[in-house]
Amino acid sequence: MSTEETIVVVGAGHAGVQATASLREEGFAGQIKLVSGEHALPYQRPPLSKRFMKEQMGPSDLLLRGERYYTDKDISLRLGDRVLAIDRADKRIQLASGDRLAYDHLILATGSRPRSTDLPGAGYAGVQRLCVMDDAIRLRQALRRGGNVVIVGAGFIGLEIAATAIEMGTSVHVVELADRPMARVVSEPVSSFFAEMHRAAGVQLSLGVSVTRIIGLDGRVSEIELSDGRRLPADVVVLGIGAQARDKLARAAGLACGNGIEVDARMTTSDPSISAIGDCASHHNSFTGGRPFRLESVQNAVDQGRVVARKLVRKPAQYDSVPWFWSDQAHCKLQIAGLSLDCDQVIIRGDQRTGDFAVYSFQGKRLRCVETVNRSGEHMAARRLISSNASVMPEQVAAKDFNPRETARTVQVMNS
Ligand SMILES: Cc1cc2nc3c(=O)[nH]c(=O)nc-3n(C[C@H](O)[C@H](O)[C@H](O)COP(=O)(O)OP(=O)(O)OC[C@H]3O[C@@H](n4cnc5c(N)ncnc54)[C@H](O)[C@@H]3O)c2cc1C
Repeated sequence: MSTEETIVVVGAGHAGVQATASLREEGFAGQIKLVSGEHALPYQRPPLSKRFMKEQMGPSDLLLRGERYYTDKDISLRLGDRVLAIDRADKRIQLASGDRLAYDHLILATGSRPRSTDLPGAGYAGVQRLCVMDDAIRLRQALRRGGNVVIVGAGFIGLEIAATAIEMGTSVHVVELADRPMARVVSEPVSSFFAEMHRAAGVQLSLGVSVTRIIGLDGRVSEIELSDGRRLPADVVVLGIGAQARDKLARAAGLACGNGIEVDARMTTSDPSISAIGDCASHHNSFTGGRPFRLESVQNAVDQGRVVARKLVRKPAQYDSVPWFWSDQAHCKLQIAGLSLDCDQVIIRGDQRTGDFAVYSFQGKRLRCVETVNRSGEHMAARRLISSNASVMPEQVAAKDFNPRETARTVQVMNS
């Protein structure tokens, strides 16, 4: 694209900010306009349920880039202004402030938002979600007041909050519809380990039950009712029931959407002048068996931001990264490389009882996913093994002398 051209990015989370930074790094010399619906300078979300929740970080520690970065790189940052509509024929976006911005290429990096629910009582004061910094500030104030905290959903975010809340001395009850925690994303041995770890710390965990309604008193939550008939006292209820793509803008503009905005491997939507990246994008990659997939992770947002920038400066660009995630719960760091979809064999290395182990998941003879608990070195090696598509056999991993770092090094040398 020439210096005359304008790229507009909607959403200044990990994906949007990375796209703008990579555009400059890749030599794009035209105008870049980054629009954020939030008033705060662009910030990282993962610490909100971790160190920020524990008050080990303040708002300025969360910033993705300092304020000067945007001026130095000539990125025009517009905060606190929402994009209301895309006029594809005229290649303009309409902002809530009344302004209209013209684009040559538009990047949608609108992220995801907490899943909406029609649960009766979800509107009572004291019922909270965790998505943006203000939610985290409100929630940590509520946790500081103590009392009974009920967390609906035993996913990453729900369990991270549970670990913090119990450390802060509150009574914590986690309610989960599935029969094991984090069932959507982790293998059974990892679920069992974390269930046990949280229970040992004092968290009450009710699995295989759902919340039927939230009961209030004078407009505030007081109890929740479960599908098995129990009622739990609740001063604070945290809804950690997952997220959905923010794709309303794209749908209204007629872009193809499924579970998120559909893109090809170069992040292009059904309109060649519009790309979508990060949590809002539904993409294909070889790790998802070719099926469309939407990931909610920093890795995905950052890598897709880089790919779209390379595409726009006409360099080779194709998204096919190994997905990886992490979650910090109490003293345990869970890291996941790859996806455990359709896996049929698992090999456990290390000791589950001491919280120092790894689970290797295979689909047939192919290594698909490695989950590690408190083994960061092994996680890094696993990412290299999975991305190189190396043939690592279940028998090899099960052997006592299997050394993941050495194997990853060997594979890398062979591939270079
Ligand atoms: C509490 C919490 C903990 C997490 N922990 C982890 C973790 O440990 N590891 C991990 O990998 N991931 C984690 N995630 C997920 C990770 O933060 C997301 O995957 C990542 O932020 C996605 O980046 P994104 O840029 O696609 O979207 P977002 O970060 O959601 O940013 C999208 C931005 O677009 C803005 N926007 C949307 N619509 C409009 C509009 N119409 N006009 C203007 N602006 C708009 C939104 O306001 C938002 O600021 C966590 C998320 C949360 C909420």
